Amino acid sequence: SRVPRIVILGAGYGGVVTSLRLQKLLNYNEADVTLVNKHDYHYITTHLHMPAAGTDKPDNARVNISSLIDEFKVDFVKSTVVQIRPGEKKVILEDGTLSYDYLVIGLGGEPETFGIPGLKEYAMTIRSINSVRHIREHIEYQFARFKQEPDRKELLTFVVGGAGFSGIEFVGELADRIPELCKEFDVDPALVHIYNIEAAPTALPGFDPELVEYAMRLLTDKGVTFKIATAIKECTPEGVLIAGDEFIKAGTVIWTGGIRGNHLLEDAGFETMRGRIKVDEFLRAPGYDNIFVTGDCSLVMNPEGRPYPPTAQIATQQGENCAFNLVASIRGNALKEFAFVNRGTVASLGKGEAIGIVGTKKMKGGTAALMKKVIDMRYLYTIGGLPLVVRKGKLR
Ligand code: FAD
Ligand code: NAD
Repeated sequence: SRVPRIVILGAGYGGVVTSLRLQKLLNYNEADVTLVNKHDYHYITTHLHMPAAGTDKPDNARVNISSLIDEFKVDFVKSTVVQIRPGEKKVILEDGTLSYDYLVIGLGGEPETFGIPGLKEYAMTIRSINSVRHIREHIEYQFARFKQEPDRKELLTFVVGGAGFSGIEFVGELADRIPELCKEFDVDPALVHIYNIEAAPTALPGFDPELVEYAMRLLTDKGVTFKIATAIKECTPEGVLIAGDEFIKAGTVIWTGGIRGNHLLEDAGFETMRGRIKVDEFLRAPGYDNIFVTGDCSLVMNPEGRPYPPTAQIATQQGENCAFNLVASIRGNALKEFAFVNRGTVASLGKGEAIGIVGTKKMKGGTAALMKKVIDMRYLYTIGGLPLVVRKGKLR
């Protein structure tokens, strides 16, 4: 009889780890495994704030999928998924169709704009290699343009909408990059403005207040102006309208105001919350015992009944659990419940600076920055072993 066919959509944190674990767990000819991804590389999303600001090269934030997976065990297909048809057990690609017995959905998230007018059209988002190359080029171009049109001071104003971890990490890098750009383009640093605008009563809502204060003080000293408890209400080609009907003219608006699940899930008819599928205890989509969901596409509740934030950390752990449960499903064994183990949160504030909580220990400054590197390298080691750590590990 035919061996079961497993199709994995998306080679992000969830999809790559699922593939790598399956490679290890499956016996020869026990299943056909196909991994589908839009690009022939995996991107290290947790590094993207650096190439976006131009403090690192985009190439350092990506890895060729062929160097990660064993192509004798996992068939890689470079293509874009355009539709999932769970009723027919089919996936429609831009250039073909795949049938599956088991499906893993790991297509990641999309920017959540909450219907705020103009954000989709006029704000840029940090989400892929292509998007961060665009942001970096755009920022440099504003400096070049300003030298041609010196009356247009707004070209040197940078608005970052949302002071969650993505926004904070990005302004940290941008503040590091500005002095370099001012030098390169002969621009007076006093003319440059970076605004980080946050709707909630604090930056990094929900995070430790002492560490938030440390971060805000440090970033303010580096030249970032925070506008807290101030929602962005509209974005136009000229800038942003914020609460209180103030308009900030800006040549650059970066939206880091949140993410939602991939729109293909809603399109497929799955029940979603903010675009994400609330999975069962084994990470399956409700009503389907052959569809597993990982990462930003999934919603997992913590023991208090609130959703865990979508992170690379949880996506990676889900990938391991998914692989285990796929193999168990094929073999007719008992599935394992997913249990998230929080290893902590560390966020960069630019070169040599970070804040974080690991276990019960609060960290800031150089110690936290070192911890951030350790976490990043541990991930590289998990997916690509020592050679990948040496090639892509940030030792700066
Ligand atoms: P992703 O990693 O987003 O991967 C999805 C994959 O699917 C991509 O390869 C994409 O190309 C592919 N894809 C999408 N659509 C299609 C399609 N239609 N067809 C084919 N392929 C498709 N989390 C942490 O835990 N720690 C951090 O330090 C951290 N830092 C971050 C910094 C930044 C700047 C950002 C933006 C996020 C950060 N996160 C961090 C969050 C983390 O990156 C995400 O939660 C994580 O990437 C989710 O993994 P995933 O597997 O769901 O999807
Ligand atoms: P987020 O949802 O965590 O933060 C978005 C922020 O934007 C919130 O503080 C929200 O109040 C604010 N906001 C929403 N609407 C707004 C408006 N109209 N005007 C102004 N502000 C508005 O999103 P994120 O920062 O992109 O993070 C996404 C996920 O990735 C999270 O789970 C996060 O934990 C994770 N992440 C982790 C790290 C890290 O661990 N170092 C780094 C980046 C992202």
